[in-house]
Amino acid sequence: MGETWTAIQKKRLHELNASVDMEQVFANSALRDLAYREEEARGVMDGRRHLESLRQSERRPGLIRLTEKLAAALVAEGFTQVATPTIISKRMLAKMTIDETHPLFSQVFWLSGNKCLRPMLAPNLYYVSKDLLRMWPSPVRIFEIGSCFRKESQGSTHLNEFTMLNLVEWGLPEEGRSAHLQHFAELVMQTAGLADFSLETETSVVYGDTIDVTCRGIEAASGAMGPHPLDGQWGITSTWVGLGFGLERLLMLQRGGQNVKCYSKSVSYLDGIRLNI
Ligand code: ATP
Ligand code: MG
Repeated sequence: MGETWTAIQKKRLHELNASVDMEQVFANSALRDLAYREEEARGVMDGRRHLESLRQSERRPGLIRLTEKLAAALVAEGFTQVATPTIISKRMLAKMTIDETHPLFSQVFWLSGNKCLRPMLAPNLYYVSKDLLRMWPSPVRIFEIGSCFRKESQGSTHLNEFTMLNLVEWGLPEEGRSAHLQHFAELVMQTAGLADFSLETETSVVYGDTIDVTCRGIEAASGAMGPHPLDGQWGITSTWVGLGFGLERLLMLQRGGQNVKCYSKSVSYLDGIRLNI
């Protein structure tokens, strides 16, 4: 019978983003502890080196740099950025059919009876789009990058607070939708330095059939197309394609990290590095 990492060792190796086999079996506990001390020391050294290089050169965490890089790429592609509130009303969610009976409803952080932290950007984007569509010629291309909040079980790909990039193009020819969705997915993934992704059709609780952008087995984004029955809530009848990306997941994939938490807004991590090293 061999020995595996203890729970405490596993936790620390996860924190340090160590690329070790978490199920590794050792001949005895002395060998395991020796291997652990080496991995821990390596993790601490690599982390300190990374933080020092951050201080010396980039001076801004990856999440912020990725946000700016993606915004610049989308602006160059004819998208206009919007900035909308993080606090939204229950009515806005209900317009997305997210009411008491909906699976996402139990994941919402409520501030009071009628206000919550947005679990998605879509309701606000619909809201501003109905006016922009009156004023701007087609196609109308907008995007937002901002925090969204969901009560999650907190595995290695889920955060309670994450950064969503949601883009939408309105008023394109119906037959061009698939190609445009693919093009925008490529634009974002390539800007994030991720070439090895695929598009897969999934079923979403809000949009019905969606197209997921998947990279190394992880969902990086979900996309959808309209006209869609939800559009009527905002009096919109236009065609559209839209995609929602999680930026911490993109960063984790880009950096080859093990846990999305390292790349989130955090007091325990800076630019992917645990600070208690
Ligand atoms: P999953 O099935 O992985 O829980 P989802 O399908 O519920 O994700 P969407 O509503 O499609 O998520 O949100 C769009 C994107 O936002 C996802 O593809 C993912 O990249 C990101 N995302 C969603 N929830 C989280 C979360 N809790 N933490 C980090 N990123 C998230
Ligand atoms: Mg999804």
